[in-house]
Amino acid sequence: MPVVPGLDAEAAEWQERARRFVEEELYPVEQQIAESGAVDTEEIRALRRRARETGFSHYNLPRELGCADLPLLSQVAIEEQAGRATNGLGFIVADRGPRELVELATDDQLERWLRPVLRRETVEAWAVTEPGAGSDVGGIAATATRDGDDWVLDGEKWFVTGGDHAGLFVVLARTEDEQALFLVARDAPGLEIVRRPHFMHDPYIDGHVELLLRSCRVPDRDRLPRGDDGARRWFTIERLMIAARCCGAAARLLELASEWAAGREAFGRPISEHQGVSFPLADSLTELLAARLLTYHAAHELDANPSPSVAHGKVAMAKLYASETANRIADRALQVFGGRGYMTEHPVERHFRELRVDRIWEGTSEIQRVIIARGLFKRGAEPYLE
Ligand SMILES: Cc1cc2nc3c(=O)[nH]c(=O)nc-3n(C[C@H](O)[C@H](O)[C@H](O)COP(=O)(O)OP(=O)(O)OC[C@H]3O[C@@H](n4cnc5c(N)ncnc54)[C@H](O)[C@@H]3O)c2cc1C
Repeated sequence: MPVVPGLDAEAAEWQERARRFVEEELYPVEQQIAESGAVDTEEIRALRRRARETGFSHYNLPRELGCADLPLLSQVAIEEQAGRATNGLGFIVADRGPRELVELATDDQLERWLRPVLRRETVEAWAVTEPGAGSDVGGIAATATRDGDDWVLDGEKWFVTGGDHAGLFVVLARTEDEQALFLVARDAPGLEIVRRPHFMHDPYIDGHVELLLRSCRVPDRDRLPRGDDGARRWFTIERLMIAARCCGAAARLLELASEWAAGREAFGRPISEHQGVSFPLADSLTELLAARLLTYHAAHELDANPSPSVAHGKVAMAKLYASETANRIADRALQVFGGRGYMTEHPVERHFRELRVDRIWEGTSEIQRVIIARGLFKRGAEPYLE
């Protein structure tokens, strides 16, 4: 079994194009945001349009829908480059469509709910986490109660990314005997956005809103079949892409820090000649290579077998290792820059703040360890290593 296959010509070309877009189109906007302290939504709309024209949109969706249906390996190559940008701007390039929903939805749901997303008229947002349950998804309290042909949803959802501009919410709630996903329109009576809190990575292109559902009626035909399967698949792919973005951010940080260390002088020589500076960078390069190998390997495993438990465990390892590595590298890079690295106009400061959430969202580092340990004690180490 190949540990990491080389990127084929098509994937390498996507990677190169993504890198160019990030450097030419996104880096200047990062600087504008750093100077103004705010995201210009008109500018973001224009960038999205340009990214779409360049092909960076819905490239993960099936060919029947007119999309490129790229394998995960190529998607990781794009997403890694997207991770080089701050302020969430990378999502303009890594604009994946709702693949998991397309696979789950009935024909009727596809037509009524997902076509507008596919036409880019709106976007969807996932509402799973609650004030009382995040890691422990099984502990969610939102309820869906059957009433004739409808379900009545009640509950509270937190951290709904993109909820500030989404037209459609994918809401997880518990019925009498299971958890199920429901498609709920933004303007559905009984659904209200009650708060738009601020976060450590602000200014950011997406907000993370809090939703309240009070006697919110949803027809039975808007309940997704096999809801919990869909949520599981969504988590797996999102985790893989977090690992990829962390690798991209870490690569940029390492390039910036080593270039600076080679030019900056202290005590009569470049600081790169002080081992106190060069050794942490040597560790960073070593750890980054390991993170990239793990991430591309996990992508390859998932491509080869779309629903395997071992690949799920490897994605957890990639997410855990890449996010923790990127945070370590950001800390070391900031130290190499000294006071400059602490200035908000500096990309290292932004990466340092923004990478922190990658150890939390889509399953904290501890939850990734729970998944890995569960696999280890169920199957042994061998399937993960062979
Ligand atoms: C910016 C941002 C965007 C987000 N976007 C979304 C979104 O779009 N949709 C959505 O539904 N959610 C979203 N989330 C929620 C995110 O997935 C949760 O915050 C995350 O899963 C952790 O849940 P929690 O915050 O409730 O922490 P908790 O589950 O309360 O965990 C608190 C601490 O306890 C630890 N812990 C919990 N259980 C265990 C255990 N078994 N063993 C060891 N340690 C444990 C955790 O690792 C953590 O350190 C987002 C969060 C953030 C910050």
